[in-house]
Amino acid sequence: MKAVVYEDNGKFELKERSEPVPEEPGDAIVKVMVASICSSDLHIKHGSVPKARKGVIVGHEMVGEVVQTGSAVKKFKPGDRVAVNVETFCGECFYCQRGFVNNCTDKNGGWALGCRIDGGQAEYVRVPFADQGLNAIPEGVSYEQALFTGDILATGYWGAKIGEIKPGDTVLVLGAGPTGICTMLCAALHNPAYVIAADSSPERLAFVKQHGFADVVCNPCEEDLERLVKEMTEGRGADVVLEVAGGKDTFQLAWKMARPNGIVGVIALYEENQVLPLPDMYGKNLTFKTGGVDAGECDKILALIAEGKLDTTAMITHRFALSDIMQAYDIFENRKEHVMKIAVYPHGLPEKKTHRDSPVKRRRMPSSCEK
Ligand SMILES: [Zn+2]
Ligand SMILES: [Zn+2]
Repeated sequence: MKAVVYEDNGKFELKERSEPVPEEPGDAIVKVMVASICSSDLHIKHGSVPKARKGVIVGHEMVGEVVQTGSAVKKFKPGDRVAVNVETFCGECFYCQRGFVNNCTDKNGGWALGCRIDGGQAEYVRVPFADQGLNAIPEGVSYEQALFTGDILATGYWGAKIGEIKPGDTVLVLGAGPTGICTMLCAALHNPAYVIAADSSPERLAFVKQHGFADVVCNPCEEDLERLVKEMTEGRGADVVLEVAGGKDTFQLAWKMARPNGIVGVIALYEENQVLPLPDMYGKNLTFKTGGVDAGECDKILALIAEGKLDTTAMITHRFALSDIMQAYDIFENRKEHVMKIAVYPHGLPEKKTHRDSPVKRRRMPSSCEK
């Protein structure tokens, strides 16, 4: 089968590899119907994921059809349509029992797929602990609708949850890339008064505005974000700040934009250490929450998609066959052609889908920062 492999020389190459078979009783083999490229794949490519194993098949965002199951798999059978979880977790250890699946103590616990064990930018993928690592796609939900469930949507869902958003809150999301957009959509599920999107990329803000992913958009490099947030909150600051950008100064921006006693959720992955200036923030009594996603609630996410409450399909700006994935990587990595997310089809592109079309759904009319 064809698969994207992280080579010894640090490059990604589309290669011929043998199809996976169950290795453990809890394994399932999934025929990958649609996969995607994530910025974490680029982190592997750039060598900034030390635990990534050379020779591994990359890709950790995919949906497909179960074709084979090990003897211990109870919840799934061949023919089932499934979303694959980015995280591998046993479901039984101390952390799994508490929902903290990112810290599963199994040797393959946490982000293993497409990093330490073969992933899903391939025709087939082996999923360990399939009863935990797979989620059934509800009837009526398409593969593209479910594509981001196990990774960036799970991250946005978890980020909104740790932000403890209450009805009527003003939520500021820093970062308007794919994960930021998922965070905005999931924040909106908690009935905030406003979701404000901030990003330094005019293109990304325009995309958010075009699709109504946030109520207000702001470019802090060009506009006064603090003034905007204070104007919208009677001078207090944001009740909840979700930092998804991971930029050079976005952590500082995050805590400064929060109101006293607010919650700052740090979802971003930084390339450098960050400074926590405790004297400067003394008396502001902030709560910080950090970490990597605990992606244990994908069934809830899929139910929300089925109910029409979560729709990320507009983010799919490009579609490619797996055989052309290197071209897709070039577009994604270099942010060409206004790319947001790419759907990769290992078993052929769907008919009638042109290169880049996607349905547009408006939630609420966003207004600009300057209004
Ligand atoms: Zn990812
Ligand atoms: Zn576990």
